[in-house]
Amino acid sequence: MYKVIIKEGKDRTIRRHHPWVFSGAIDRIEPKYTEAGWAETYSSTGLFIAYGWYDEKSHIILRLISWKKKDNPSDELVKKLVREAVERRRAFFSLPDTTAFRLIHGDADYLPGVAADVYGKEIRVIVSSRFAEHFLPVIASELDRLLHPSVIEAVTDKQFAGLEGMSERIRHFRKGEETKEDESRDNVRFIENGIWYEAAPGKGQKSGFYCDQRDNRAIIEGYAKGRTVLDLFSYTGGFTLHALRGGALSVDAVDSSESALRHLLYQVHLNEDKEVLPENSREKVNIYPSDAFQWLRDSQDGKYEMMILDPPKLAKTKSSLENAMKAYKDLNRVAMMKIKNGGIIATFSCSGAMSRDDFRLMLGWAASDANAEIQILRTLSAGEDHPVRISFPESEYLKGFVIRVIK
Ligand code: SAH
Repeated sequence: MYKVIIKEGKDRTIRRHHPWVFSGAIDRIEPKYTEAGWAETYSSTGLFIAYGWYDEKSHIILRLISWKKKDNPSDELVKKLVREAVERRRAFFSLPDTTAFRLIHGDADYLPGVAADVYGKEIRVIVSSRFAEHFLPVIASELDRLLHPSVIEAVTDKQFAGLEGMSERIRHFRKGEETKEDESRDNVRFIENGIWYEAAPGKGQKSGFYCDQRDNRAIIEGYAKGRTVLDLFSYTGGFTLHALRGGALSVDAVDSSESALRHLLYQVHLNEDKEVLPENSREKVNIYPSDAFQWLRDSQDGKYEMMILDPPKLAKTKSSLENAMKAYKDLNRVAMMKIKNGGIIATFSCSGAMSRDDFRLMLGWAASDANAEIQILRTLSAGEDHPVRISFPESEYLKGFVIRVIK
């Protein structure tokens, strides 16, 4: 095992259990680095801080995993962390109306770059670190032993592939063993809050699902009755489906991905067939494959009484925060200008680099430029299967508010 010594004065956040160590904080490593491996981390005065995974090819050179000296860093420790993450979600396995949820939430569950979601009988793993890639067979075999999924599919997160120097791959595991699969598998069906969804295998616009918005989808349903709704950045329609069930007059769904929008319509049909949505739901939905920012600017003033703004991560890193704040502000300002007086906006940011305070501040600027008053009706976050680890503020990535716009 490597021994890593942190520079004097650079160990404050990691002593408080923040998991990231960048190369600038490291004084030295013993013995000389040859390949990725476990490391014990010490302060400049020789005090033990934590165990971590040291990999010079990763953009986070040392990822801390356990602050307990008695732990023994090994495959067994990784399995134990998987078991504990699954155990913490025990209640989710017996929910009556939801069969999709997050099992492992990266550093918030002490497994850096490892996200795993349950979709019915399948498990999808999203690999966004070299650590996750290295331990994938260990993680998959433990998940299989605990939960017996029909298949575990692991996909490299393309946002991180470049940063981490990983090739984009899809790997499959059955009964704990890696298998070679073609991609002809059927779509997997699952329910969330009683609504049916389907996800396609592999990568692509119809394969993923954002289960972090589950609670928020249920909340917006309660505001939809009798309203003309705009679902901006709709993806495959999580919010649209809830707005329809909530009694929306109509829903316009806008996304740059045409295939996601087609899948949205398919899911409206699916839920009509299952009698989850009323029969005429399909007629209430219009899809617009367009750039959402431009589309909103061109939309009719005062048409919408409710809007959902769920853009992709606009601030990828701390350094891009300032520009991203402008983009968020622009989006929210135009939405506030366009919405009917008294209308409701559910607005989100999934940028880990942007704090909730930043987000609120931005909303204030947007309101002032739009010449509107806003009332915060609800404060929103990811569901409890996506816990926020307080020593790791970046894990509070999903933030939202339901606001009322008064002009
Ligand atoms: N609200 C969705 C998730 C949205 S994810 C749900 O509940 O499932 C963000 C979406 O924004 C993706 O579908 C992506 O295709 C879309 N997107 C990204 N940039 C866009 C742009 N400039 N205009 C429109 N859509 C965009």
